[in-house]
Amino acid sequence: MITISQIKNILDNNDPKATEELARKSKKLTEQYFGRTISLYTPLYLSNYCSSYCTYCGFNSHNQIHRMKLTEEQMPKEMEHIANTGIENILLLTGESYKATPLSYLKQAVTIAKQYFPSISLEVHPMETTEYKELYLSGVDGITIYQETYNKEHYSKVHISGKKSDYNYRYNTPGRIAEAGIRHISLGILLGLGELAPDLFSLYSQLKEMESKYPGVEYSLSFPRLRKIKGHDFATCDVTDATFIKIICLTRTLFPRIGINLSTRENSRLRDNAISLGITRMSAGSNTSVGGYETEVLDKQDPQFDIEDSRSVKEVVAMLKEKNYDPVLTDWRRDRKYLLYKHGEKN
Ligand code: SF4
Repeated sequence: MITISQIKNILDNNDPKATEELARKSKKLTEQYFGRTISLYTPLYLSNYCSSYCTYCGFNSHNQIHRMKLTEEQMPKEMEHIANTGIENILLLTGESYKATPLSYLKQAVTIAKQYFPSISLEVHPMETTEYKELYLSGVDGITIYQETYNKEHYSKVHISGKKSDYNYRYNTPGRIAEAGIRHISLGILLGLGELAPDLFSLYSQLKEMESKYPGVEYSLSFPRLRKIKGHDFATCDVTDATFIKIICLTRTLFPRIGINLSTRENSRLRDNAISLGITRMSAGSNTSVGGYETEVLDKQDPQFDIEDSRSVKEVVAMLKEKNYDPVLTDWRRDRKYLLYKHGEKN
């Protein structure tokens, strides 16, 4: 296992030859295990209610924003909008409010989503194994859960109140998800929040622990960078583009077979360049506001963070083809209802 000081040395080494060598190795491994394919997904924010206070997030419970959650009637409109772009993998997100978006609400959203998408992932509040089992049985096949930072002291400074302030409960969540039988787990840290090398080391260690305890699960990693939120300037990230690319390459060389995600927090130039260097999955056509696709009027929207790449799914697909990559819209399906939608028989 790589050490913290080795990670630091790699990230701090500005010798172009060393960077080039790292990129070359990462590119080779990515092509060896994933070929020239990039999976695409679109996020759908179901709710921005949150009972936690995380200093860096626009949805935090102290922020005076327009709060809303999609109703049973609004969900199909939003989902149909996304499905019509050709996307087949959906990531459903909420703020972390056990009261506003309880398990029953999430199951209802998944049941509706099954009519439009063959693959459904969630990024919502952490739960118990039995609850994850219910979600699995409803049709969820992936869960995203980020520790954000592994430095306990710093964690408690930025996660001031609410359930998210419980470091250990969050840390043990991936194990509960795996116990429930969910096939895909995405882990991550929020770049710019904690000290980089120790956080990367801890993320890699948690991934290794999970891989050895639950080898049947498919894992991916994400490295979102802090972004400005409406009305606050403090949330800026000191991780440069060059360091960000090194993180992707280093991760690939350490874990040749895991997926690496890239969201629209990053701009189009960086995203296009990162493709060949280790990325396997990208979001496209994203909107980070609740009801942002079809439901809400624009001036009422309060996004979780500002998007840097606002290209449509069609534009991202075209860019990938231009670069001689295959955009993968689905590589997994569990439910027949989706096929009924595809054949114009919505039920
Ligand atoms: S990061 Fe998550 S838990 Fe924290 S305030 Fe934002 S939505 Fe709520």
